[in-house]
Amino acid sequence: GTPTALMVGSGMGAEKGILIRNGEAVQTFKDIKVIAFDKTGTITKGKPEITDLLPMEGVDKNDLLYVAATIENASEHPLAHAIVESAKANNVDLGKVNEFNAIVGKGVVGYVDGEKVLVGNRKLMKENDVNFSKQQDKLVQLENEAKTAMMVAKENTLMGIVAVADPIKEDSAQAIAEIERMGIRTAMITGDNNRTANAIGKKVGISSVISEVLPDGKVNEVKRLQEKYNIVAMVGDGINDAPALKQSNVGIAIGTGTDIAIEAADVTLVKGELSGIISAINLSTATFRKIK
Ligand code: ADP
Ligand code: MG
Repeated sequence: GTPTALMVGSGMGAEKGILIRNGEAVQTFKDIKVIAFDKTGTITKGKPEITDLLPMEGVDKNDLLYVAATIENASEHPLAHAIVESAKANNVDLGKVNEFNAIVGKGVVGYVDGEKVLVGNRKLMKENDVNFSKQQDKLVQLENEAKTAMMVAKENTLMGIVAVADPIKEDSAQAIAEIERMGIRTAMITGDNNRTANAIGKKVGISSVISEVLPDGKVNEVKRLQEKYNIVAMVGDGINDAPALKQSNVGIAIGTGTDIAIEAADVTLVKGELSGIISAINLSTATFRKIK
């Protein structure tokens, strides 16, 4: 559940859906030089959907979906949910998976009907000697469309490509533009590939994109930003964001995110809209002007 929150600034924060659990953070808000955002669930809705299902020649489309969804049913990643949901919507029944393993930042591996299956990115395919050289152009095209492209392989042979897109939250671009107008730099930190990350960054007007970061690498990226810009805020929703939220000078959790992120943060945006950050900065500036 939501942690007990301390309201400051004459309850104005609560009205705007900003819960403050660390009073000092309110003061720090006015000194922020850069705000780092997680991508999935923070800038985007965190609810990706399949956009493309591209079987290789001779592979049945439903078989590709069956194999991918069967293994992804064992994963808790938002990308996995997108694939499983699509199988359900297409009345594709799932099989059983054995020896399932999630490989951080790369994908998943397991056995479906006794055959080794991989679903994931280039790194995962390269490690398993899956040849995808003929699909490079297609992957690049999908990624430039801000989609996350995953490959599916059976017995180390490529079966096809599954691409998903995670819609951007309605107010992300506007909030980021407003933050930049306030003279605060914006950055995005994500595990997603460079091209997809840049395509999304461009759509929302983020000034710097840090991509292909492993989950435990986010905290180091925040440290690096602190060395350069001193006062850094971090905004995130996931379990993986908790250490980075703690490391940052102002940790901001998305209210619709995980409890672990909320507990690690100084401030929670109850509504999940990024515009709450602007209200918080304005609140901080106004409050401390009055005290002086
Ligand atoms: P993020 O949370 O920013 O999306 P992750 O570190 O969770 O980043 O994932 C990084 C990349 O690893 C994904 O973009 C995808 O290519 C691959 N990946 C992770 N989990 C899965 C999964 N369950 N199925 C397929 N690919 C995955
Ligand atoms: Mg996230």
